Amino acid sequence: MLKTRLFTPGPTPVPEETLLELAKPVTYHRTAEQKQILGEVIADLKYVFQTANDVIVLTSSGTGGMEAAVSNVLSPGKKAILLTAGRWGERWRGIMKGFGIEVVNVEVAYGKAIPPAMLEEALANNPDTVAVFATLSETSTGVGHDVEAFGKIVAKTSALLVVDGISGLGAMECRTDDWKIDICVSGSQKALMLPPGLAYVSVSAKAWQVIEANTAAKNFYFDLKRYRAKLPENDTPFTPANTLIRAQRVSLKRIRAEGIENLWARHARMGAAARAAIAALGLTNFAERPNNAMTVITVPASIDGNELLKNLEKKYGYKLANGQDSMKGKIWRLSHMGYCDMFDVIGALSALELALLDAGYKFQPGAGVAAAQRVLTGRG
Ligand SMILES: *Cc1c(COP(=O)(O)O)cnc(C)c1O
Repeated sequence: MLKTRLFTPGPTPVPEETLLELAKPVTYHRTAEQKQILGEVIADLKYVFQTANDVIVLTSSGTGGMEAAVSNVLSPGKKAILLTAGRWGERWRGIMKGFGIEVVNVEVAYGKAIPPAMLEEALANNPDTVAVFATLSETSTGVGHDVEAFGKIVAKTSALLVVDGISGLGAMECRTDDWKIDICVSGSQKALMLPPGLAYVSVSAKAWQVIEANTAAKNFYFDLKRYRAKLPENDTPFTPANTLIRAQRVSLKRIRAEGIENLWARHARMGAAARAAIAALGLTNFAERPNNAMTVITVPASIDGNELLKNLEKKYGYKLANGQDSMKGKIWRLSHMGYCDMFDVIGALSALELALLDAGYKFQPGAGVAAAQRVLTGRG
């Protein structure tokens, strides 16, 4: 017998009490009870986002939230600055291409983070920029960005700061209001402990002004003004995934009970432990500025990265993620976001050691686990 264990950076494991909520019969969505539930979910999301801004719940995957941000703020021919350090920055670019946006690319190599000075320069050269698009946690490389610094720079201009916080929110510090994030997008299946299916978008007063003035916007389902109109009654313009909203309420209660600062600290501990383990095994952490949602490991030249992941899954039941596209076989991505504790991380590291031994990689067995244990007990 072998248990299967999910360590991909989305979807992620879901707590038992949330799974039980998902097992309940489907209900009608236009009821007082459903409105009460949506109201609670929005209030708890505001806590997770650390915002007093409107938070809109969309029935879509995270990309739908990103498309909502682009299509509401911009229209064909308008200019945006894109800060891109990986696949998810490229997702912003793909959406903007679809909407005919003029994109100024500020780009660094995979594994690197965008230095805030690059944004400062791009904004100075492009005063007609309507919005700057960034990624909090770049899930394809494991990099975390200094969004606080981005916010300080963008807030001095008329441009909006739009952040993809899909895998970062709930896994690393993110203070939407203090950091002056005008639009922050998240999704249900990363650190927020739910299956895929919901996207969340916070919108500042500055962003609403831009959205209202954007009369050439091209959208319908993702027209955020339709959602705002329903907010006072805690309702939605279209049929929401109400079973998921009910379940999200349960996971958000767990997050509330832990406390957002404790939750950030838990992820920081797990991230530090995993990175210490990787270093102790003689392996390299791929991200130069790692986020705490996941640990991304550079595959050593002596090992077939694809085969090792297959073996980890088949022989040990641990499902980690491969690199995407051009990174396939070159990195391994170990998620520790959301419903994940230190023993999950230790288990994954132990399984990784076994798979490395199978692959003939030379190291002292247990060295990674021991390094993680030292960090987790404060003796690192
Ligand atoms: C997962 C992810 C997305 C894409 O979300 P979908 O739910 O697959 O549409 C976008 N950005 C980041 C940073 C992600 O981690």
